[in-house]
Formats: sequence, structure tokens, C-alpha cells
Amino acid sequence: MLKRYLLAPGPTPVPPEVLLRMARPIIHHRSPDFIPVFESARTKLQWLYQTKNDVLILTSSGTGAMTASVDNFFSPGDKVLVVNGGKFGERWMKIGQAYGLEVIELKVEWGYAVKPADVEKALAKHPDIKAVFVQATETSTGVYHDIEGLGKIISKHPDTLFIVDAISALVAHDIKTDEWGVDLMVGGSQKGLMLPPGLAFLSVSEKAWKKAETSKLPHFYFNLKKEREGLHKNQTNFTPAVSLIEGLDEALTMLQKEGLENVFARHEKLARAMRAGVLGMGLHIFPKENASNALTAVKAPEGVDGQAIYKTLREKFGITAAGGQDKLKGKVFRVAHLGYAGVFDVITAVAAIEMTLKELGHTVKFGSGLAAAEEVLAGK
Ligand SMILES: *Cc1c(COP(=O)(O)O)cnc(C)c1O
Repeated sequence: MLKRYLLAPGPTPVPPEVLLRMARPIIHHRSPDFIPVFESARTKLQWLYQTKNDVLILTSSGTGAMTASVDNFFSPGDKVLVVNGGKFGERWMKIGQAYGLEVIELKVEWGYAVKPADVEKALAKHPDIKAVFVQATETSTGVYHDIEGLGKIISKHPDTLFIVDAISALVAHDIKTDEWGVDLMVGGSQKGLMLPPGLAFLSVSEKAWKKAETSKLPHFYFNLKKEREGLHKNQTNFTPAVSLIEGLDEALTMLQKEGLENVFARHEKLARAMRAGVLGMGLHIFPKENASNALTAVKAPEGVDGQAIYKTLREKFGITAAGGQDKLKGKVFRVAHLGYAGVFDVITAVAAIEMTLKELGHTVKFGSGLAAAEEVLAGK
């Protein structure tokens, strides 16, 4: 037997409380049973999002809500700016292009965070930009973009929406949706929210709803205006993933018990410990700045294939982490500390990386990473 550990940046482990809640018999989504469950889940989501606006719950993977963020608010030919600093920035570009928007790319070198001043310049150069799209955490590089800094700039532009893919950042990072002027923020169930894949979330500001009035793109499954009307009656347009919504309610109850500040502090500390562990054993992290609290992208050492590290972690030690994507394939591997994560997830990961490196013939002093991680975990 090989005991398995899921330490990937999505899907993430699901706590027993949530698994048990989802094991309840299915309730009918048009029956009165559904109303209190849905109402409770959607109100708690507003708490997590730090917003007074509606947070829609969609039955799809996260990308579904990314797509809905385009086809419900824009028209063909609309000019939009996409911050592209990795695979998920690329996805915003591809979605925009698929719907015929005029996509202006703000390229950010992988491993770096976007400079808000560069967004300011682009907005000055193209005053007709209708939206700025960005990731909060760019999961392919492990970088966190400065959402607060971007919000300060974009909120000065009354006709420009600020659209954030926070699928992997939600729960791990303190993102103040309303205070920072985020118009649309996308979340997904299988990352920080400790649920199986299958739900997407989307907060929508009044500014965005106004823009939706003029959208000329067709949409049917993701008709957000109709979803909003339903939401206020605690209904969804179509059959939702009811078990996942029960699980969502449970997961949010767990987070509320912990308290928002403690949730963020836990992620910050685990991330710091993970980075210390990596550096302690003589490796380096990939991000050059703004390393995310959701996951750590680690550079494979000279002469060791990052995919071999990923594979050894999985096959020999039972740990499913993630490899590098695209041009980072073989160069990095990624370990999450996201959602249902605690001290011994980091310890497990750091110990397993040390043993994996040794297995692959790389010189490493056992315990060097662990000692550094433990120092952090034992402290404040
Ligand atoms: C995981 C992830 C996605 C993709 O979500 P799916 O649920 O696979 O559609 C999008 N953006 C970011 C930043 C992610 O981490």
C-alpha cells in the first residue's frame, strides 16, 4: 500500500466534515429543502469575498465563470487589456479572442508580478479599454499580482471593469473585493474552498451589471442576469451540483469558525515555511517577487529534471504535487499549501522533497529543509 497525499494546486484535499455533509441524501433543488442551504452558502460566500454584491454560484469548473465574465459583459470588438504572466493569463487572452474582443496583451515575464504603473500607462494610451483582466495568483508561476495596487488605478476609470481570476488565490490571500474595486472576481471549488471540482463563483459589482446591459455577445447556459434574479429567490437557472453546494456551506462554516484573519495568517505562515524549507535544502523558488501564499513553485536544481521530481514524489512517496507547465515543464515543480492545509502538509512535502532529491542522485543534507521549515512553523 502507498498512502496518498494530495498537495497539488487544485484539486486540493477535502476535509472529513465536508465529505460527510456531501454524503447526505440528495435534496431537490426546486423543493423548500434547498432554499436554506443555498441561502446560507451564498451569504457565507459574500463574507469570504468581503463583498456586499451578489456572488453567483455556477455549476462548472472555474473556467466556466471566466468565460461568463467575458460573454455576459462585452461585445465583439471591445478593447480589453489582459495581464499575461503565465498559463492562466494566456487563458484570459484566449477566451477574449474566442469571443471576438480586441485583446491588448500586457506581457509580464514569468516569475514576476505586473507593475500597476504599466497598467496605468496602458490605460492612458488606450482610454477606450473596457476591462483589465488579471490573475490574483498566477498558478503556473506561483506569483501573486498586486490586486490592491491595480484596483487603485482601475477604479479611477469609470468605464473600465477590473476582472480578477482568484480561482487559486481565494482563501489563501486577503482580497478586499469591494474596497479594492474588483468588479468581477472568479473563484473555484477545488482550490482554497476545500471542495471537489465542479463549482465556480463569481462576484459582480453594480458597475459590471450596468455594463452587462449593453453586452451583445450571445449566452445561454451562463446567463448571469437570470442567475441573479434566481439568486435572490435562492434558485439557480438549471440543476445545480446540490451536493457540492451542501459541501460549500460546510466548508464555509469551517472557515467562519477559524475567522478570516486566521485563515489568511495560516496560509501566509505555511507558505513562508514552505519557502524556508526549500531554501534550507539549497533549492530556489521560481518567483522573483510576490510569491503566492497558495502554492510554491520550486526550481529543479541543476542537472535534475523537474518532471522526475514530480514523478518520484508521486510514485515513490505517494505525494501528488504538480509539475511545470509549458516552458516551465521540467524546470519547476509546484507544491500547494492551500485550503485544508496544515503544519504537517508542509513538513510532509519538505521531507519528501529531500528524500526525492537524494533518490535522484542530488546531494542534499537530510533535515536541512525540515529544520528551516520547523523554525518558521514553531514561530509566530
Ligand atoms: C485552477 C485554475 C484555473 C482553472 O480552473 P478550472 O477549474 O480547471 O477551470 C483558472 N485560473 C487559475 C488561476 C487556476 O489556478
